[in-house]
Amino acid sequence: MNPVRSCISCRKRENPSVLLRVVCHDGSILPDPSHRAPGRGAWVHPQCATVAIERRAFSRAFGLISTDNRELIAYIESLNSKY
Ligand SMILES: [Zn+2]
Repeated sequence: MNPVRSCISCRKRENPSVLLRVVCHDGSILPDPSHRAPGRGAWVHPQCATVAIERRAFSRAFGLISTDNRELIAYIESLNSKY
């Protein structure tokens, strides 16, 4: 049985294989492409990540006032540059 996760941006429920997992470490949002980093994770479609950052969805998901999204932005940009 596959677990199902919700994208924190569009709320669609998905198999985790199509979602990017992120974890929060000391206020920084870090991409976790292997889905193995310890700690509480949040899930987002790679194509929803930019919108999620704009809407502060990560702050909400982790219960923080603000988050440092630089690592995540760099990761998303590296994904986008492949296309
Ligand atoms: Zn989404």
